[in-house]
Amino acid sequence: GKEFSAEEIRRDFPILGDIIYLDNAATSFSPEPVVEALVEFEHRYRANVGRGIHRLTQIATQRYWHAHEKVARFIGGEAGVTIFTKNTTEAINMVAQGLSWKPGDRVVTTVLEHHSNLLPWRALGKQGVSLDVIGIDADYSLDLAALEETLERGGVRLVAVTHASNVLGVTTPVEEIAGMCQKHGALLLVDAAQSLPHMPVDVSRLGCDFLCFSGHKVFGPTGTGVLWMREAILEPSVLGGGMVESVTAEEFVPAEGYQRYEAGTPNVGGGIALGVAVDYLSTIGMERIHQYEERLTARLIEGLSRIEGVRVYASRRAGSRIGVVSFTIDGLHPQEVAHLLDEEADILVRSGHHCCQPLMEHLGLPNGTVRASLAAYTTEQEIDLLLAAVSEISRGR
Ligand code: PMP
Repeated sequence: GKEFSAEEIRRDFPILGDIIYLDNAATSFSPEPVVEALVEFEHRYRANVGRGIHRLTQIATQRYWHAHEKVARFIGGEAGVTIFTKNTTEAINMVAQGLSWKPGDRVVTTVLEHHSNLLPWRALGKQGVSLDVIGIDADYSLDLAALEETLERGGVRLVAVTHASNVLGVTTPVEEIAGMCQKHGALLLVDAAQSLPHMPVDVSRLGCDFLCFSGHKVFGPTGTGVLWMREAILEPSVLGGGMVESVTAEEFVPAEGYQRYEAGTPNVGGGIALGVAVDYLSTIGMERIHQYEERLTARLIEGLSRIEGVRVYASRRAGSRIGVVSFTIDGLHPQEVAHLLDEEADILVRSGHHCCQPLMEHLGLPNGTVRASLAAYTTEQEIDLLLAAVSEISRGR
């Protein structure tokens, strides 16, 4: 299809105003229809869900349920269970705590991972579960031979891998990894926090068992996230109201479907607004967003690479990256660079270790990097303004 107009969709994001926002990997903004859905919930039908029968709870329950359907369709996961969480971190923890582990079980993850896809697995050490961490090659691609070897040694219950690095932008070959996992009877969890905002993601094609992502990075409200699973194989780790069919003196029958995993009053308005956010993205088209952002990403990487004193940490392969680019300027702390960009050019980027300290150690970057991350509303002009500002800062060292 034809390229969409970032200029046009920017009208839906008044917050963009006078800033150049390139910290979308941390959280993205919500377009007006999403904000309106939140406001409409508060103004017109705020109520609890799945409880009682009055008119407001009926509307809220129906819309909240429908939002799950929309999200499931967005990721091709209608056949599985789509659970609303607070964020990716909570989703991953639910899997780590919801599987019944036995001593000797093994989990495999990678050096690319965000702390949120590392610490929940490491904590299983107390239950006798060991953790293997797969490395990357010089071009940041995963060492699949090492993964194969690890799987062959046996005992691997689960492989937990990011779909796209929040530092380097490199994507991982999830379909291939899924094939390896199936061959060895291991479950596969995909951290799609960074891939979902930038490219089509279809769980039926990926072949994973769990998919985790953050609603607030896909134009949804903060406090929203998703755990999708192929089958309801997890034990619910939070118990209480709303997740049971019936409770007797001694025991309880858990509810079917996502309700089993959403104990307590959920973020009703946020969940409904997340449904609106994925509709918004679907209307633009994820493939079109992917192609558009790839053009800007290539421009950004090439531009940065030409500036003296700048080192770029990003995937050089067009087919295996998203719009997340790290860089450093020789002789300047990443914090200082981010500060200068904000103060002098109204450009907002992230600096630091991006919750990926093991990766920073691997890359030999104890101070971390500066990270620019794009969204569908990013323009070519904004990329050029960033490049000009980085040149200026680098010249002034
Ligand atoms: N995984 C990856 C790859 C991420 O980029 C992030 C957010 N930076 C997370 C997990 C955690 O997301 P959240 O803070 O929404 O739980």
